[in-house]
Amino acid sequence: MGRNKILLDKLAHEDIYLHNTLSESEIEHNITQNRSRLQRAEEIKQRFLQKYQNAKTELQYSNIYELLIAVMLSAQCTDKRVNLVTPTLFAKYPNTRALSEATFEEVSAIIKSISFFNVKARHLIAMAKSVEKDFGGNIPMNQRDLMKLQGVGQKSANVVLGEFLHLNYMAVDTHVFRVSHRLSLSSSISAIETEKDLVRLFKDHLNLLHQAFVLFGRYECKATKPNCPDCFVSDFCISKQNFKPR
Ligand code: SF4
Repeated sequence: MGRNKILLDKLAHEDIYLHNTLSESEIEHNITQNRSRLQRAEEIKQRFLQKYQNAKTELQYSNIYELLIAVMLSAQCTDKRVNLVTPTLFAKYPNTRALSEATFEEVSAIIKSISFFNVKARHLIAMAKSVEKDFGGNIPMNQRDLMKLQGVGQKSANVVLGEFLHLNYMAVDTHVFRVSHRLSLSSSISAIETEKDLVRLFKDHLNLLHQAFVLFGRYECKATKPNCPDCFVSDFCISKQNFKPR
């Protein structure tokens, strides 16, 4: 009863109720389709929340400044590699003030084993300057202001807010994208549209689900040779294809 009530509440928010140009049978069909889509998503959500109860990032950090830098460096790079360079970086530049005064040569020399280190070094220094100049030396704690910082897009902002403040934000990286498509939670071709699909379907616990999907994608549902025999959601899987965002 409680479960049905939740599903009906969700259906009440779906667009199909607004499309009063549809025939009765089309509306009936859409409701059935939608209900099964929501039921699948709910079951997948509950399984992930149970299996990955305390999912958190594998990036190492001790405050929001360090987390933001680690997230910026992790774009198209592994967390392991990021964790190898950040201790030196954080020791030399413990806050935005110190980093804002760093030279490009100094920062790029420290992070040179990271992918796109030249671009990222410029972004880090620009981010630190902006935090100092526009935000009084404090990393902003909301999506809009975080995204004003150079090198911080919606995905990075959402990861920081979800991880550090446990706010209800989804972020779609390559792992989340692949898992979402293999489980038929989205058929969108971009990461941003996939994020919207997941937000619509899951609605809450988004930060936990993000980390859970990352860990599942990284260690189980890998791009090549996924561990399908031991998969706990194989009954929802529609393809082992290596989906990538465009
Ligand atoms: S069955 Fe394999 S490809 Fe499908 S979700 Fe599970 S691990 Fe991924």
